[in-house]
Amino acid sequence: MNAPVHPIEQLHAELPGLDWVTDEGRIARLSQDFNWYSPVLKRQLEGKSAAAAVRPRNEDEIHALVGLCARLRIPITVRGSGTGNYGQCVPVQGGVLLDMSGYNAFLWARNGAARAQAGIRLWDLEKATRDQGLELRCMPSTYRSATLGGLYGGGFGGIGSINYGPLGSRGNVLGLKAMTIEENPQVIELRGPEALAMHHVWGTNGLVLEIELAMAPVHDWLEAIVTFATFDDALDFADALSRAPGIVKKELAFMAAPVPDYIKQLADYLPAGCHACIVLVAEQSEPAYLELVAQFRGTVTYRKGAAEVAAGNRTLLEYTWNHTTLHAMRVDKSITYLQSAFIPGQHLEQVRRMEKLLGGEALMHCEFIRNMDGLMTCTALQLVRFTTEERLQEIMKIHRDNGVRINDPHVFIVEDGRANGDLAPAVIDTKRRFDPHNLLNPGKVRAWAQGIPK
Ligand SMILES: Cc1cc2nc3c(=O)[nH]c(=O)nc-3n(C[C@H](O)[C@H](O)[C@H](O)COP(=O)(O)OP(=O)(O)OC[C@H]3O[C@@H](n4cnc5c(N)ncnc54)[C@H](O)[C@@H]3O)c2cc1C
Repeated sequence: MNAPVHPIEQLHAELPGLDWVTDEGRIARLSQDFNWYSPVLKRQLEGKSAAAAVRPRNEDEIHALVGLCARLRIPITVRGSGTGNYGQCVPVQGGVLLDMSGYNAFLWARNGAARAQAGIRLWDLEKATRDQGLELRCMPSTYRSATLGGLYGGGFGGIGSINYGPLGSRGNVLGLKAMTIEENPQVIELRGPEALAMHHVWGTNGLVLEIELAMAPVHDWLEAIVTFATFDDALDFADALSRAPGIVKKELAFMAAPVPDYIKQLADYLPAGCHACIVLVAEQSEPAYLELVAQFRGTVTYRKGAAEVAAGNRTLLEYTWNHTTLHAMRVDKSITYLQSAFIPGQHLEQVRRMEKLLGGEALMHCEFIRNMDGLMTCTALQLVRFTTEERLQEIMKIHRDNGVRINDPHVFIVEDGRANGDLAPAVIDTKRRFDPHNLLNPGKVRAWAQGIPK
């Protein structure tokens, strides 16, 4: 009697025309992301890998693969570019890794909106819409490599969130097309609030094929570094600029000493021991923003107009958000980070209090944004001089005890990373509808670890 065929071998045998990755080392690399930012996740996720990886080129190929995986009950983990920080695309229970980077067509841009296939890089999406005067409303600092599906499935927002809030704010995502994970997969369009039910759930309740976003008007963005002698001047400048409604801006990062000292590539513009802000304002807003620089005793050490930025290969955007952390980790391997959100209206006071309590150990790096309700605040990606996992927990507890919300970046379970820990009922309904066999990225959501709740 013949030995039973292993389900993964059956996949290969029944779908030989797909673009399978056969090299074991490549499958292992595709199965990892930037979870090594966290010493805790690095320990937990090292060596986790899919049993197979495939790079579909069109919807028919995705359909064939998904249908067969559903029939054979093989887990599927979707991957964009693998720049996530919490092991979101690491297949902790094996199965197939679905690399969406080849499913990347730009579809259209009109009336202030744009639509593309999920595997498109954000950089390519913007390249395609710029001629029509449109750019992304918010994007991660990894926009050169990150995909649209990855931003939607694993991201939060970032550059541009100072105007439009996080990606999940009402009105940013207009619609999407997703495939159900069933023997006969269906393709369904979700619009409005329904289109947010798969957002930031790490590809566990839907396979997204296309996304339609509301876009922002393009401006000629001026990039600048402003340095300050004191923490308070730098923070007060950032606060005043964030609130100045007539100044058109895209990005505002505040880095307290000694964070700027870690950014070696910009050392010519960051005198040792300085506090600094990285600023992107529209060129027409330059005189107004310079008034604030003068008011708070700042010094502009770096200035590049939009044309100069476009002509060169450096943008200051790649020193903000979690790129700041990356630059610091290159200098000091013991660095890790936190993600915290401050209460609008109390955010400056909270930033000062945390600096007083933990300065020297949790180094302040804030990003100014509007929150979901449109209120100006800041979020922080503090650099942490890591000692032990116990101390890391204590540092997060000290934040919580002081009313600062922590979105824990050292866990890979969706609920554990959230300050409130819950999944919205719409997220669970969507899971039932789109992944009834519970095959998508298993091991990441506690709510359906034992099956999908009825
Ligand atoms: C240096 C650095 C800076 C960063 N800065 C930011 C930042 O400013 N803001 C921010 O939000 N994040 C940031 N990140 C995290 C990450 O880069 C972003 O979230 C990015 O959008 C992820 O895109 P990706 O294509 O790499 O997704 P991946 O890492 O490949 O996937 C992310 C998640 O989305 C799911 N997914 C991917 N495609 C699909 C799909 N088609 N259907 C369903 N699920 C899907 C995956 O399963 C996974 O769970 C940063 C990371 C690094 C390393």
